[in-house]
Amino acid sequence: MTKVDCDVVVVGAGFAGIYALWKAEQQGLSVRGFERASDVGGTWYWNAYPGARCDVASYNYAYFFNSDVVREWDWSDVCSRQGEIQQYLSFVAEKCDVTRLITFDTRVLTTTWSEEAGLWTVRTSGRETVVCRYLVLAVGALSEPKAPDIPGVDSFEGEAWFTSSWPRDSEVDLKGKRVGVIGTGSSGVQCVPEVAKVAREVVVFQRTANFVTPTLSGPMDPELVEELRADPEAVRNGLRKTYGGNQPLYIGSDRFSELDEEGREKALWHAWEQREVALAFWDSHLPDANAAISEFIRQRMHEVVNDPWTADQLVPWDHPYGGKRPCKSDVYLQTFNQPHVRLVSLRETPIEQIVSKGIVTSAEAFDLDVIIYATGFDALSGPVRALNITGIDGMAMNDQWADGPVNYLGTMVHGFPNLFLPSSAMSPSVLSNMATLAEQQIDFIFDKIRWLDEHGQARLHPTAESQEFWRDETLRYAKRVPGALTTDSWYNGANVPGKPRRYMVYRGGFSRYNDACYRELEEGFPGYEVLPGRAA
Ligand code: FAD
Ligand code: NAP
Repeated sequence: MTKVDCDVVVVGAGFAGIYALWKAEQQGLSVRGFERASDVGGTWYWNAYPGARCDVASYNYAYFFNSDVVREWDWSDVCSRQGEIQQYLSFVAEKCDVTRLITFDTRVLTTTWSEEAGLWTVRTSGRETVVCRYLVLAVGALSEPKAPDIPGVDSFEGEAWFTSSWPRDSEVDLKGKRVGVIGTGSSGVQCVPEVAKVAREVVVFQRTANFVTPTLSGPMDPELVEELRADPEAVRNGLRKTYGGNQPLYIGSDRFSELDEEGREKALWHAWEQREVALAFWDSHLPDANAAISEFIRQRMHEVVNDPWTADQLVPWDHPYGGKRPCKSDVYLQTFNQPHVRLVSLRETPIEQIVSKGIVTSAEAFDLDVIIYATGFDALSGPVRALNITGIDGMAMNDQWADGPVNYLGTMVHGFPNLFLPSSAMSPSVLSNMATLAEQQIDFIFDKIRWLDEHGQARLHPTAESQEFWRDETLRYAKRVPGALTTDSWYNGANVPGKPRRYMVYRGGFSRYNDACYRELEEGFPGYEVLPGRAA
């Protein structure tokens, strides 16, 4: 009989992994964690680039399972900086006494299911082999950097840094240097203004312009903090009943379709002042309302940039608001008004190659001391695909996902029993507050495990039919979102050359998602195959 080393293995020590470790111990299960970083934090460990901060309000982008944590932790800003969020996650890990369970600097390489034993075997870069009953791959949605698909990357002789794995052990000194930044997604947008504060010259290489709206940044409202601390459990339950897993500052109460021109303009300005322009109307998600919101933001963006050509380039004309992940910044666009900051439009003059001295476009050669790659991630399915996962009958996850990821309720895959994938594809995921999601998904995962134990069952995995149903549901909701299927974005895999194109985010909303999960539990998991025979 195969020896079981522990009940649960958790891979990853970000929001989801930390909570999973705590939850396992609370449920009386033995557990081990593995993390390839040297500390906890996940996203907030790796993305330590200048300017990195959250854009969901910190008072919501936090755990609510532990009242002491809610009461003892003070955020310094509504949009906290990377270092503070990482400190928070260390604080929670210590408070919940889970750090001791994690083996750091260790990558999980392969995970193999034995149908006969009903167990997972996990192999690590530390040459350890661990056998467990349940495997939680809390490996994140945005943790696998995208390799830069630009010729000559390795020939650059200056310094090259990635926002997605910013060095922590040495200071990056950009003072007085000529710095090129490739990429203008959320990371580039946050990083460029900070780089411009110290660099001698900044050249921003933009392929696709993005929507940029003001942040929620500012001091915490003491009354709100008191309200959250009074009843964390109620906040937690309340967040799960929202569309995005957070409490927006404002949602317009009027329908776009029922307002005249003047009413629409008034609603847009009001929402803009509340810093929630995307929610200006009750029906903001409908195409006409979305078009008006998109146009309004374009105008606001255009008017803050002095140079007309640069303003034209920075405004996204080619996709509607929400087609790609919109960015937030109070200073990004204004940075281009500084004389030492220049925009290069790669749509007009593409990069031909990177050479030893810098970047060569079809029009010009740029000599640089530093290149910063803010080029994004192999998102959602990438971190799972980077592992070598084998399920029933030797089926490889990467073969099952050859045409794009499939799963049921965003957390389990047919043919891979007792394997759980929080934060992955086909959940509200990156379009929700992912701290709320981490708690909800980990709760659901451990509710499943408890249910199995209570019912004398050993394993479960979704049926192929449930998985197909969920794929169709994800597509059905995506079709309702303007630009979701027609815009190239990392939501649908278009950012990684050769990646199968599949819309990977469930857009039905957090509340509907939570209900669908818990309906399964209440009804005894009709969408799953449940098997007896608990492993020793
Ligand atoms: P992660 O935090 O990504 O943690 C996964 C961990 O798994 C990583 O530490 C990684 O090293 C580890 N890992 C992966 N594979 C292996 C392996 N094979 N072996 C060992 N370890 C492995 N979301 C929001 O809701 N609001 C925001 O404002 C927000 N801001 C963001 C800003 C940035 C710069 C980025 C990149 C993302 C942001 N996100 C935001 C999304 C963010 O990823 C999630 O909010 C959240 O941090 C995810 O937590 P997680 O635990 O699921 O995954
Ligand atoms: P991203 O949104 O995928 O942006 C990558 C950028 O690099 C894009 O502008 C992309 O252009 C460009 N790019 C990629 N490959 C290129 C190439 N070969 N040549 C030229 N340009 C290239 O990645 P990200 O900015 O790291 O953000 C990823 C996600 O992380 C965000 O969407 C968000 O969910 C999260 N995030 C959040 C925050 C926050 O404020 N809370 C901050 C950072 C990140 P194209 O668009 O043309 O592909």
